[in-house]
Amino acid sequence: MVKTVGKTRLELVKGDITKEQVDAIVNAANTTLLGGGGVDGAIHRAGGPAILEECKKLGGCPTGEAKITTGGRLPARYVIHTVGPVYRDGNHGEPKLLASCYRRSLEVALENGVKTIAFPAISCGVYGYPFEEAARIAVKTVADFVRTTEGIECVRFVLFDPALVEHYQSAFSELEE
Ligand code: ADP
Repeated sequence: MVKTVGKTRLELVKGDITKEQVDAIVNAANTTLLGGGGVDGAIHRAGGPAILEECKKLGGCPTGEAKITTGGRLPARYVIHTVGPVYRDGNHGEPKLLASCYRRSLEVALENGVKTIAFPAISCGVYGYPFEEAARIAVKTVADFVRTTEGIECVRFVLFDPALVEHYQSAFSELEE
């Protein structure tokens, strides 16, 4: 599925984000930035030890923030590590923090000349965010950002879990081009 918002192409694809040929892929990391399971484990495995070496120098990352390293052996030149909220009940700032992950990742991308970027479904694994709301926040936050800020040519949402696809498709359908 593809939508154009402002001057940016938003794409929805299924697959493994470590294979993406984009300037930067985003990692759904934890606050230590020292490795974990899920997409984080996959990125460190595919990118090799150089990424973890760089992460060790970053001193962790607060929830809702984003930090950048190179992509090691990945096809992507950079990895932008962001930390999604652990979902409790939705009343502990989760929506704002999740939106902040997408916004801050795009800001860090622009600061580093990134024009094409791929996002996983942040917080939709072990952090337990309800899929429908997470998908809507992801797509809307990115669309609002690119509508008002130039420089990102393509944002690709890469879904590994097939159960997420319908929720992202609905969120895409709600978008105004
Ligand atoms: P979080 O801790 O933020 O919930 P997870 O890594 O547990 O992060 O899950 C986030 C999402 O990333 C989930 O939808 C999971 O299915 C997905 N995921 C896991 N491996 C990959 C991968 N190789 N490429 C893209 N997405 C992945």
